[in-house]
Amino acid sequence: MTQPDAGGGPLGLFGGTFDPIHYGHLRLAETAREALGLERVRLIPAGQPPHREAPGASGQARLAMARLAVADNPGFEIDPAEVEAEQASFTILTLERLRAALGPARPLVLLLGLDAFLGLPAWRRWEALFDFAHIAVANRPGYSLDSAALPPPLATQLAERQATAAALGEAPAGRIVPFSMTPLAISATDIRNRAASGNSLRYLLPPPVLDYISLHQLYL
Ligand code: ATP
Repeated sequence: MTQPDAGGGPLGLFGGTFDPIHYGHLRLAETAREALGLERVRLIPAGQPPHREAPGASGQARLAMARLAVADNPGFEIDPAEVEAEQASFTILTLERLRAALGPARPLVLLLGLDAFLGLPAWRRWEALFDFAHIAVANRPGYSLDSAALPPPLATQLAERQATAAALGEAPAGRIVPFSMTPLAISATDIRNRAASGNSLRYLLPPPVLDYISLHQLYL
């Protein structure tokens, strides 16, 4: 068994547009930390995401909201590098950077919701992701991990790599671990639509993020 670096238990990496960050994201990260035995979870707000339209809020605003959302959780940290980078965000480049910084032995666990996992074959050099990290996949209402519904190359990867949480500490990368969270049908799209219609956002995201959105009049 590969020994991680000193002080180097599995590190969760959770990227997203976070436009804005909401309780679906936070509950996914918290459940992953606990259920997968992660030392910490690093949230990585995307800069200009390659696969979608420009976000409703600026990178700096999405970064500020992510910082506010995790301020009270010592198990979470924020990585501003993608927002601060000039070029588009590609997960493979982020993983290469983190692997170089953290060394070859540290288990890295990329956290994805099921909708993101199903879209993986569209990501740049997606099959190389497994050279740099494990992938852990959370359920999300409206999506199914039924192998008959998976894109065939993803079904092949899942069949070869599927493991349980215990396997994450035994190698630095390469496994796929599905895990269960309390299903939360919250999406940032729905939050932006509610804001644009002048409807309440309470109980969908943390109060400091709500305050930031109203102070800066975002998503109107
Ligand atoms: P949008 O509606 O703008 O597409 P989103 O709510 O899906 O946003 P993203 O920032 O695109 O949020 O997602 C970041 C990650 O969080 C993705 O891996 C996504 O699958 C996951 N995720 C977001 N919301 C949930 C949720 N409610 N349950 C499980 N996973 C989620």
